[in-house]
Amino acid sequence: MKIYKLILLLIISPLILISQSNKKTGKMENEKIKKSDKEWKEILTPTQFKILREKGTERAFTGEFYDFHEKGTYSCAACGIKLFNSDSKFDSMCGWPSYFEPISKDAIEYHKDLSYGMSRIEVTCGKCGGHLGHVFDDGPPPTGKRYCINSGALKFEPFKK
Ligand code: FE
Repeated sequence: MKIYKLILLLIISPLILISQSNKKTGKMENEKIKKSDKEWKEILTPTQFKILREKGTERAFTGEFYDFHEKGTYSCAACGIKLFNSDSKFDSMCGWPSYFEPISKDAIEYHKDLSYGMSRIEVTCGKCGGHLGHVFDDGPPPTGKRYCINSGALKFEPFKK
C-alpha cells in the first residue's frame, strides 16, 4: 500500500511545483486574451471598439484625458491591465494624452506602422492586443519618448488616499 502512495506522490509533486512556479513568475496574469469581434462588441462602447479593435483615432483635443491632471493609473479599457501612471503623463499639446513611459515593459507591444504614408511605431496593449496609439521620439526626459494614446482606449483609476 505504501509503495503506491510513494509512486503517486512522485507523479503529483512535479505538477504542484510547476503550478507554483507559474504563480511566482506571474505567467497567469500575463496570459494573452483573444476574443472575437462579436465578443469585444459586447464589452466595448462603439468608440472604444473603433479605436481598440479597428485602430481608429479620436479627433485631437476631443478625448477625455488630453487635458486631465488627476493622479492615478491608466489601464486598458478592453482588458483592464495597467498601462500608464499619471507620474509619466505630460502636457504635449498634441491633443491626446501623452506619457514618457509605460508602467511596465510587458504592458505595451510595438509594431511598425506604414499606414497613411507615414512611418510610425504603433503601440498596442500587451495583454489583449488592442490598439492604443503611437510612440514618437520627441518626448521629454528621462526617456525622450512620447506615447501618444487615445483617451478612448484608456480607463482611469485615481490613487487610493
Ligand atoms: Fe488590453
